[in-house]
Amino acid sequence: MLNVAVMNDVAIDFPTFEPGWVWLAGAGPGDPGLLTLHALHGLRNADVVVHDALVGEGVLGLARPGALLEYAGKRGGKPSPKQADISLRLIRLAQEGKRVLRLKGGDPFVFGRGGEEALALVAAGVPFRVIPGISSGLGGLAHAGIPLTHRDTNSAVTFLTGHSLTGQVPDNLDWRALAKGSPVIVVYMAIKHLARIADKLIEGGRDPADAVAIVSKATGAEQRVLETSLDRCARDVAEQEIEPPALVVIGPVVRLRAGLDWLGALSGRILEADPLASRQGREAG
Ligand code: SAH
Repeated sequence: MLNVAVMNDVAIDFPTFEPGWVWLAGAGPGDPGLLTLHALHGLRNADVVVHDALVGEGVLGLARPGALLEYAGKRGGKPSPKQADISLRLIRLAQEGKRVLRLKGGDPFVFGRGGEEALALVAAGVPFRVIPGISSGLGGLAHAGIPLTHRDTNSAVTFLTGHSLTGQVPDNLDWRALAKGSPVIVVYMAIKHLARIADKLIEGGRDPADAVAIVSKATGAEQRVLETSLDRCARDVAEQEIEPPALVVIGPVVRLRAGLDWLGALSGRILEADPLASRQGREAG
């Protein structure tokens, strides 16, 4: 079992994946290169990998040959295993003495119900380790050329989910406070209810002309980025058939993409050195 990696004489001491343990790991936003070394180590040593729908083949292909790959995903609107059944499955596999890698898209504790699964393990007395991942709302946006913070635009960011437990727009949120609370808002699971979310933010006092970007399938080969505005975003998403999974980011950082779209630059986009000042930057989208 690989336990120490040596690169340029620097040793990384990996924990031993003991039988009967569950490692609850984040797989990052999609590109296998954005896995952590610990998650990769887990993949190389697990007996069973229990993954959700956001974990792609590129990542699963890194599992140890012979490891069992088990899908236990949840997808909005489609029949999917109940959360309690997923937790029970993890407990059972661990009790059978398996090394269980529970692999979730992004970070396991960001809108990923990782905490619930870990607490079920605690209740069952199953030992576990948590391996953080790059959340799509951070890494996926950075990859798309959108910084979450920038000194000229914002010193706060709000993360929210567009789906409550019941699949509706969360109604326990103070939308007025959210609309005014921070210059940048990142919405996970937003596509289905985008029109309502945009309306609630505008009703709450947010500028309808606020810059918005929708980043779909971030970091993958099919990544798409749509730049629009708060009042037009739901219509544009429908017209352009943007598919989930997608993130919605609202606020002035979106305009920085005119300067930071390094991926676009690879296919000829001319980057602007001062996107906040330039006219084109203001009118992006
Ligand atoms: N734990 C995950 C989030 C799970 S909720 C994380 O930290 O990223 C699922 C939502 O995450 C999706 O509806 C979408 O909004 C977002 N998401 C996950 N992966 C994505 C990707 N590659 N591109 C765009 N959005 C993604």
